[in-house]
Amino acid sequence: MSRLAVVCGGSRGIGGAVSRLLAERGCRVAVLSRNQDSARAMVESLPGGLSEHLALSCDVSKEQEVKKTFDTIHKTCGSVSYLVNAAGINKDSLLLRARPEDMVSVLHTNLLGSMLTCRAALRSMLNTPGAAIVNIGSVVGLKGNPGQSVYSASKSGLQGFTRSLAKEVASRNIRVNLLLPGFIRTDMTAGLQESERPIPLQRFGSPQEVAQAVLFLLEAQYVTGAELLVDGGLQLSL
Ligand code: NDP
Repeated sequence: MSRLAVVCGGSRGIGGAVSRLLAERGCRVAVLSRNQDSARAMVESLPGGLSEHLALSCDVSKEQEVKKTFDTIHKTCGSVSYLVNAAGINKDSLLLRARPEDMVSVLHTNLLGSMLTCRAALRSMLNTPGAAIVNIGSVVGLKGNPGQSVYSASKSGLQGFTRSLAKEVASRNIRVNLLLPGFIRTDMTAGLQESERPIPLQRFGSPQEVAQAVLFLLEAQYVTGAELLVDGGLQLSL
């Protein structure tokens, strides 16, 4: 039986590229996003389509939705081998202008959402050899950035969460790693100019380049608690 991968935020952007690469490598993929139609469109475009893979509407920030979604996944597809937490939002603003409801939704999606999906997936991962989780953080979580204090806090939180969970489940041979992208060309960065950013490699990365690194972390059997930068050298210049 092929490995089952759950990709949260798998309908587009970085998660979309991860869904595609994992399907090409023979995984069955459960694509999760709030918008059911876009999750379905992604699955239809994968090799194997809807007969091999699953498209599910799930808001990862909502505990009951996460629970129900993973119950469905476990019942229809079995144990989860890989979990990739790529669901994320930004509502960038200087803190003085930030709306509390936006702060809550960023923290709940980016940080609490990953905690909830990890908790829901772990139940079946405990019995799955080679199980692994990749959380998607950000260079901004390491370095900070004006106008992104809340987003940055959500990503720094993910760093502490990933390190602790890696220690917590290592004895069960479940690996948990953090990938830190720099500027990647997706909807989230639409409108940003490459030339205005101090990126040593002088370009934004592609979602496919991040997906390759996610695949490495999922498969690297002796790597856990690691933080892998995929940022064209950005952190060197911040
Ligand atoms: P996109 O905006 O392109 O895609 C975001 C994905 O997450 C979509 O599939 C979206 O689907 C899903 N999503 C958003 N909110 C939720 C939610 N509450 N529940 C479930 N799914 C949700 O973003 P990117 O691909 O650029 O970003 C992916 C991750 O990488 C994020 O965590 C982001 O913070 C991080 N990152 C991105 C960088 C970049 O430069 N692009 C840089 C550093 C980190 P839907 O809207 O249908 O829910």
